[in-house]
Amino acid sequence: MLLALTTTHRPATDLGYLLHKHPERVQSVPLKFGQAHVFYPEASEERCTACLLMEVDPVAIVRGKGRADGPLDQYVNDRPYAASSFLSVALVKVFGTALNGHCKERPGLAQTAIPLRAQLPVLPARGGEGLLRGLFEPLGYTVSVESHVLDENFPAWGRSPYFSVVLERCCTLSELLKHLYVLVPVLDDSKHYFVADDEIDKLLRQGEGWLSEHPLCAQITERYLVHLRRLTRLALSRLVEDDPDAAQAGHDAEEEAVEKPLRLNDQRLASVLAALKSSGATRVLDLGCGSGKLLARLLRDHTFAEIVGVDVSLASLHIAEQRLRLAELPEKQRQRIRLLHGSLCYRDARLAGYDAAAVVEVIEHLDPHRLESFTRALFGEARPRVVVLTTPNREYNSLFAGLAAGRLRHKDHRFEFTRQQFQAWAAAVASDYGYQARYETVGPVDAERGSPTQMVVFSVQSPKEAES
Ligand code: SAH
Repeated sequence: MLLALTTTHRPATDLGYLLHKHPERVQSVPLKFGQAHVFYPEASEERCTACLLMEVDPVAIVRGKGRADGPLDQYVNDRPYAASSFLSVALVKVFGTALNGHCKERPGLAQTAIPLRAQLPVLPARGGEGLLRGLFEPLGYTVSVESHVLDENFPAWGRSPYFSVVLERCCTLSELLKHLYVLVPVLDDSKHYFVADDEIDKLLRQGEGWLSEHPLCAQITERYLVHLRRLTRLALSRLVEDDPDAAQAGHDAEEEAVEKPLRLNDQRLASVLAALKSSGATRVLDLGCGSGKLLARLLRDHTFAEIVGVDVSLASLHIAEQRLRLAELPEKQRQRIRLLHGSLCYRDARLAGYDAAAVVEVIEHLDPHRLESFTRALFGEARPRVVVLTTPNREYNSLFAGLAAGRLRHKDHRFEFTRQQFQAWAAAVASDYGYQARYETVGPVDAERGSPTQMVVFSVQSPKEAES
C-alpha cells in the first residue's frame, strides 16, 4: 500500500520537518499488522515527495485477533495493496504529530496552506468515481481519477472497483491528512478492527471544522461507523450540537454557502411562516422538512396546534429530532409535533386532512418525471386547503458570486425553474386540482432576473370561485 505526498512550496524539503521524517533517511515503523516505511524519492528545493509504504502481512491479519470475516478470512486478500483503514492507523502512528497540526521546527508552516498533492495508486471506492468525487471535491480538492477495466479480454467483467487517484489542494498538511484519515475507510466502506463507541470521538476529532458542513456528512458518518445505527445517531447528534447552524446532515450546506451573503434561508422561512399564518392554518405539514429549521419556528409559534414534519431521509429526521430536542420537550409541547418518515411521491393517508402544507426547497430535488406523482399525492389526495411552496429561481443564479455559469445551486438539484417555467407549472397544477395560485418573491429583487427564491401560495378554490 502506497501513499505519496508532494509539495512544491519552497523550500519543498521542509516537508521533512512537517512530517517529522528526515528526507535523507529511510525510516521504518513496526505496526501490529506489518511494517511502515517512509522514504523520499525526490527532495529538492522546488519539489519534495514523501512516500508511506505499508507492508501489510495478510497472514497476520487472518491469524491475529482482528475481525476475520468476509474477504479478510482468506490469506489472499486486497489489504496489502489497497488503501484502507490500515492506512488511517498508519497515519496516526507514523505522521501523528503532523496529523494534529504540530511542528516544533516550523510551527508557522504547519498552519499555512501550501500546495499539496496526495497520490493513492490503489484506492478502493465502493460507490465508484461519483462518490470519490462527491467526498473530496466539496472540500476543494482537484481530483484526478484513473479507472481500469478488470480484464480487456472479458469486458463483461466490468470495471475494477480500485482507482488510481491524485488529490490536489492548497491547504495545511494537517487538513489533508485528516481528510485522508476519515475518507479513505469511508470509501472502502469497511474497517479491519472492531468498532466501538470511541470511534465517534475519533471521527469528531479528525472531522473537526469540516465534517458537519460537508454535503455528504450523514453518509460519511454512517459509513465511518460501519453502518451501526446507534453510533451513527449519536455521532450525528453531536455534530449538530457542536455546530447547530451549519449542520444540515450535509443537505444544504453547499446551497447555503452559495446563498449565504443574503441570509436567504432566514428570509425564506420568514416568508413561508407569514404565508402560513395569514392563511389561518393551525394544523400544518412541513413536507421535505430536512433538518427541521421551519419546524423549529412553527413550534415556537403557538398559533400552530399540530405540526407534522415529513422527510424521506432518516438522517435528516434524526437531526431534526435533535434540533427540536423532542426528547426533552414537556408533554404538552411534545404532543404538538410529529416526525414522519415517508416519500412525497406516494399517496400517504397520514397526510390527509391538514389545513396547510409547506414545501420549502424540495421540488428541485425530485426527478422531473416524479413531479406528477408528487402533485397527485399532495393536491389530489392529501388536499390541504393551502400549500406554500418555494424553489430557486434559476435566472438569478448568474448573480451569485461563486457559482459558475450554468450551474445549479446544489449538486442534488435535478432542475431549477425560471420564473416563467415555475409559474406555468404552478398554474397547470392549480387548474388540474382546483386551486388558485398567487406568486411571491423572496429575497432582493433584481430588475431583470427577479428574486433568488420564488414562492407560490396555492389555496383551494371555493365552489363559487370555481364557477366564475
Ligand atoms: N425544507 C427544508 C429542506 C430542503 S432540502 C429546508 O428548507 O431547509 C430537500 C429535502 O427534501 C431533503 O431533506 C430531502 O431529504 C427531502 N426530499 C427529497 N425527496 C423527497 C421525497 N421524495 N420525499 C420526501 N422528502 C424528500
